[in-house]
Amino acid sequence: MNFELDKKYIEIQKDAREFAREIEPIAAEADEMSTIHPEVLAALRKSNLSDLMVPREYGGRFEHVDPLAICIVREALMAVSSHADSLFALQGIGSFAITASGSTEQKQEWLPRIATAEVLPALALTEPDVGSDLKNASTTIESDDDGNIVINGEKSWISNAPSASFFVVFARDGDQYSMVLVPSTADGISVRPTPEIIAPHVLGDVTFSNVKLPSSAILGQPGQGLKLVLATLAVFRVSVAGASVGLAQAALEEATRHTRTRVQFGKPLARLGPVAQMLADSWTEIEMARLLTYRAAASAVDDPAAALNLSSMAKLASSEAAGRVVDRCVQMMGRFGLIRNSKIEKLYRQARPMRIYEGASEILRLGIARQLTQEIE
Ligand SMILES: Cc1cc2nc3c(=O)[nH]c(=O)nc-3n(C[C@H](O)[C@H](O)[C@H](O)COP(=O)(O)OP(=O)(O)OC[C@H]3O[C@@H](n4cnc5c(N)ncnc54)[C@H](O)[C@@H]3O)c2cc1C
Repeated sequence: MNFELDKKYIEIQKDAREFAREIEPIAAEADEMSTIHPEVLAALRKSNLSDLMVPREYGGRFEHVDPLAICIVREALMAVSSHADSLFALQGIGSFAITASGSTEQKQEWLPRIATAEVLPALALTEPDVGSDLKNASTTIESDDDGNIVINGEKSWISNAPSASFFVVFARDGDQYSMVLVPSTADGISVRPTPEIIAPHVLGDVTFSNVKLPSSAILGQPGQGLKLVLATLAVFRVSVAGASVGLAQAALEEATRHTRTRVQFGKPLARLGPVAQMLADSWTEIEMARLLTYRAAASAVDDPAAALNLSSMAKLASSEAAGRVVDRCVQMMGRFGLIRNSKIEKLYRQARPMRIYEGASEILRLGIARQLTQEIE
């Protein structure tokens, strides 16, 4: 058993840290934006990291999309900028259904440009009345008399929506669900801003109104929608765990620097019992979260579907740990932890959505408990 990253992953980590260092001066500005920051996008393109998001055959770096590589990059990026982290992550999350079951034409048209970050994708699952309960989706795909399909419905809180070149849309298709690839240039699409959230994010609400496409726009076979959502989660859910670990580590570093130098009652805060305990507990939790995350991601490299339960555990453990750690870090920094737009205050806000998207903690617990009760004889 070897707990160290292989050389190939260390190289990727170096590149990701280099990208993060490059955008650090503009990170605070980018993280307050709900539209794409052009310089962050330019730096992503220059970094070539998006080529981790598609298979080699279509311009990617590796033969298959590698969940551990993505985790490591997100860990490095989230420590510096949630905007950069999201921009990077969405290249894969938004395009993976094409990788998994697009036609050769669909792959050739989009994946090489995903790999260079020339185009940005969006994955549209959520609706005004549908979040965790995806099977209740009301967006529809219907066939018309000419053999085309027609899409109608509302999608909400869709990352990248204002800048996406295409939407991968989850919709009801008869009594099943399909995923459909909708270019953003299609007639009948309109995008409105989503309400501003606790930590700004590039989001949009999208209306599909009689959007007509050839039936070949359906990804894979009709009726494979849920399977494609699961395939996407199997590769990318664990990467939220990676980002959570990066955020928690960055918060702890802030609190460590502060408590090492600030003196109260004649001693640095870090030497005062309860503060020392918060530092130690936080460090320990981060190490535990990172170990589980790397373990889940390494398993997902071999077989993403088989590793999904571990990935759910990693996402649950790491996002919940990040919430606890960053809360303690604010506490340790006293009033200095509360300064608006300071690094720690920004991390505090950014930690919160991670427990809600890509599987809210409660939903993950339901799945993990179900698996446990099936496994134990
Ligand atoms: C920053 C951000 C980016 C996003 N980007 C995208 C995107 O790109 N594409 C997209 O499609 N969506 C996106 N979303 C939406 C996200 O996927 C949803 O917020 C998520 O699925 C949860 O749905 P909901 O918010 O409607 O909560 P709900 O489903 O209404 O759940 C509310 C609460 O009830 C709990 N709950 C729900 N059902 C159960 C149950 N059966 N048992 C126990 N507890 C339950 C949940 O855990 C949660 O705590 C994004 C959200 C955010 C915050």
